[in-house]
Amino acid sequence: MKLLNYKYTNEEIEQRFDKIRQQVFIQSKQIKTENFSVVSNDDIKLIFNLYDTHFFDNYFKENEVTSKMAFDWSKKMTSAGGKLMYYKVTKQNPVQFRMRISAYLIFNSFKNDSAKTVNLAGFQTKNRLEALMHVIEHEIIHLVEFLAFGDSSCRKDNFKKLANHIFGHTAFTHQLLTGRMEALKEYDLKVGDWVNFSFDGKEYTGFIHRITKRATVMALDKNGEYKDNKGNRFKKYYILLKYLKKLESKPV
Ligand SMILES: [Zn+2]
Repeated sequence: MKLLNYKYTNEEIEQRFDKIRQQVFIQSKQIKTENFSVVSNDDIKLIFNLYDTHFFDNYFKENEVTSKMAFDWSKKMTSAGGKLMYYKVTKQNPVQFRMRISAYLIFNSFKNDSAKTVNLAGFQTKNRLEALMHVIEHEIIHLVEFLAFGDSSCRKDNFKKLANHIFGHTAFTHQLLTGRMEALKEYDLKVGDWVNFSFDGKEYTGFIHRITKRATVMALDKNGEYKDNKGNRFKKYYILLKYLKKLESKPV
């Protein structure tokens, strides 16, 4: 199947990504900035169609996949950035695939005035539009697998290979934005925050480098193997969020 054989270089992926982003601003009625505050279901469909054109030579349209798809936003879906549901097509139900995107996660993960990034699919994602695009990419790989094999799992090697070849993904978790959102909700912690924690009976101070289920904390340590441009040395720890105590500001 043609869909399984696409492979792009990082540069080709970047060029296509940029082209799609530009086209969204031109064609969408709602999305005029990267941290849009109003969207409609049509925007998901628009972006999907742009991916079809720029990455897959309109395969989905020409093979009548798109005509059996529905696209929607969900405010209630808080556990995953996106979901691809599939149904048996009947007379009553013409929809075979429904691509659902979490409005909750896309909107809450990025604020207008923030310079923070979120790691999505291996990319440092800067805003809602980029997040939406990477979530849609992930769901498109699910779609490709369903069409090819009648089944799909982002935990399996085949998915990882496809997502990497086509979109350059290096991370594949289905709960694309969950780690960070859980952190925001329950612990009010985010990447860049300074924290205290203890490890093996010793107290450490460091900043959060990454959040998944645990946080990656770079702790100040004069023997640490990591160094910043000010000559501070750090050691890397993986700590459960509940053990981190947030500091009000960077220690001096
Ligand atoms: Zn997945």
